[in-house]
Amino acid sequence: MFADVIIDIQHEKLDKIFQYRIPERLEHEVEAGMAVVVPFGKGNRKTKGYVTALSKTCDYDISKVKEIADISRSGVEIETKLIALAAWMKSNYGGTMLQSLKTVLPIKEKENIKVKKRLRLLIDRETGEKQLHYYLEKNQKARARLMAALLDDPLLDYELVRKKLNITATVIRALEEQHVLAVESEQVYRNPVHAENIQKKEIIYTQEQKRAIMRFCKDYENGIRKTYLLHGVTGSGKTEVYMEMIQSVVDKGKQAIVLIPEIALTYQTVMRFYRRFKDRVSVMNSRLSAGERYDQMMRAKAEVDVMIGPRSALFTPFPNLGLIVIDEEHEPTYKSEQTPRYHARETALRRAQTEGASVVLGSATPSMEAMYRAKNGEYVLMEMKNRSKMQDPAEVYTVDMRKELKNGNRSILSEQLQRLMKERLEKKEQTMLFLNRRGYSGFVSCRECGHVIKCPHCDVSLSVHRDGKMRCHYCGYEQTRVKICPECGSDHIGEFRAGTQQIEEIVKTVFPQARVLRMDMDTTRQKDSHEKILSAFANEEADVLVGTQMIVKGHDFPNVTLVGILAADMSLYTDDYRSGERTFQLLTQAVGRAGRGDKKGEAVIQTYSPDHYAIATSAAQDYEAFYEEEIRYRTMMGYPPAENLLAVFISSADEALLETGCRYLKEYMIKAKKDIEASVIGPASPGIEKINDVYRKVIYVKTADYHDLVVLKDRTEKYIEINSGFDKMRIQFDFNPM
Ligand code: ADP
Ligand code: ZN
Ligand code: ZN
Repeated sequence: MFADVIIDIQHEKLDKIFQYRIPERLEHEVEAGMAVVVPFGKGNRKTKGYVTALSKTCDYDISKVKEIADISRSGVEIETKLIALAAWMKSNYGGTMLQSLKTVLPIKEKENIKVKKRLRLLIDRETGEKQLHYYLEKNQKARARLMAALLDDPLLDYELVRKKLNITATVIRALEEQHVLAVESEQVYRNPVHAENIQKKEIIYTQEQKRAIMRFCKDYENGIRKTYLLHGVTGSGKTEVYMEMIQSVVDKGKQAIVLIPEIALTYQTVMRFYRRFKDRVSVMNSRLSAGERYDQMMRAKAEVDVMIGPRSALFTPFPNLGLIVIDEEHEPTYKSEQTPRYHARETALRRAQTEGASVVLGSATPSMEAMYRAKNGEYVLMEMKNRSKMQDPAEVYTVDMRKELKNGNRSILSEQLQRLMKERLEKKEQTMLFLNRRGYSGFVSCRECGHVIKCPHCDVSLSVHRDGKMRCHYCGYEQTRVKICPECGSDHIGEFRAGTQQIEEIVKTVFPQARVLRMDMDTTRQKDSHEKILSAFANEEADVLVGTQMIVKGHDFPNVTLVGILAADMSLYTDDYRSGERTFQLLTQAVGRAGRGDKKGEAVIQTYSPDHYAIATSAAQDYEAFYEEEIRYRTMMGYPPAENLLAVFISSADEALLETGCRYLKEYMIKAKKDIEASVIGPASPGIEKINDVYRKVIYVKTADYHDLVVLKDRTEKYIEINSGFDKMRIQFDFNPM
């Protein structure tokens, strides 16, 4: 037996792999992911290495291959634990060990020293407060925001201020000229925020918060490690609960990781953690360079107890991990889009299990997976149903667009929405118009009765392709386009179309006096344009903001008291089984944008399917009812979480070769599943059939048991490896695709 060994995981690109012979006495012990001691280099210096793969054959001159000296038994270091995690990821998500290792390990790259800038407050507190007052009076909102932040923390990171507070360089310069602040440069970058002089805010926990905290702390105290699902409405105080839980873990000398989706990782959120944990906190984000990320990771080993960041922060090398918190656990960004296509939730559970840590998942709209497991008793369910400050939730109205058409209103804005928008303009309050385009795939629907054309086998909508046919994205079923609605006979049937630009034009026509901003892919192409639009809206430079899902998250606009959801159906009929869940989550979030401040909010949901459970339950803000309906559908159709789904994506520049490859692959998979109860579906065309002249296909496999899918994936991977016919194809595995 031979083993592939990487020698130095801290440096270079991890590509240097050396093959070693496994001595007979160790043959049954050596496994991928294990630390070993090997002779290395000319002097055969004893060096530590990590096994990435085992093989029966040797790729080099066998007489020159050295032998593994021993298994490294010098304690279990954090690297060893992370490499074992990488091995688990490789086997559960496919791909190579190297791909997994690169995901898990911080990689040191050549440093290029970057100059970091900071803002330092130059005036005392009293003068500062006067100044703040002055800016507020003058209605200089950006200046006021910066002043308030400096009063909170007199030393602020320049980039953080620009990005998270949406302050322009001009504003910073203005305050510099007024000698309110100084811009300082420094060579080393320690911590993005300075926590001196920040005081902890005392709050009294609500009963619901107390119950959740007590439950966790008691378990933790007694050495019980579990997974908890904290289901709490927006504003119920989940973040406060996480912080209290983290405190109890840190007090025991352990460390905690907090995952927050990048878009929700706002300045305000980060500051709350700093206030509480001061210099013991560090933040990671995707703007950090590889070098900075590496520095942060190294700090984690020594001087930090709490790491906050997006998905990749999960691999923080804490030596004594006690808790992993995943906020907004339902977010699709927790699933990696690159091989290995790991899900942060599952991977966190695995890491926690092997390192003796607990996991807390939090959301206002838990994923079907998480709630399913909570109801099965795998996770401990904790509920918080009330807002911590007892604000009223927004009032929601559902408008049936079929009736609007009958009443002669052909506009994209319903009568009711127009009326409420007019009120807002008069009261100088703001409106957000949200066009739901996530995963939009060109479905066909009837404007008169709302009927949508679906696949007779898979119960998902068919999407229109360029050749004019309608196809199912799972099984490949196709039919010609319909011209007449099969339900009501109307000829008002066609592709559902609407764009943000079109809406912007309409709003300007209906309300010539309104100042309108638009945020979508087109208007945010330039660097910083995203931030500029949001800060302009925050500064009340516009009355209406029109946008796609990018506008529903991460920013609080207290003056927004009306949210209009223009085409709730758009995400409802995307061609995948999660469309109902996504719609419920998006609508709940969008509705939650209204009335964040003191004024009560209203929301209008415009739809052609007011009776669809995802729409009706989000309008009623009833998660339970949604869950019950949705799980019934998933169970009936055999979709996750009731069953498991593996997508095998196959792509090639050669269309004919791809056809043949898919046929062979499907035949093999049907044979390979002999002892497994599984169905193999497809091949079908994924949403986008061709990217850059590379053709794509997908084969789906459904099984009841996740492990069966892994077994089938392993067999298929081997088959692909030994058949050179697949060399010109790219094959990727995706478990329970998002
Ligand atoms: P969530 O994460 O559930 O949306 P947060 O933890 O962000 O909720 O809380 C929303 C707001 O309410 C925050 O400003 C927070 O400081 C405040 N808050 C939370 N719990 C309490 C409490 N028990 N008393 C007063 N304010 C609270
Ligand atoms: Zn119809
Ligand atoms: Zn189908």
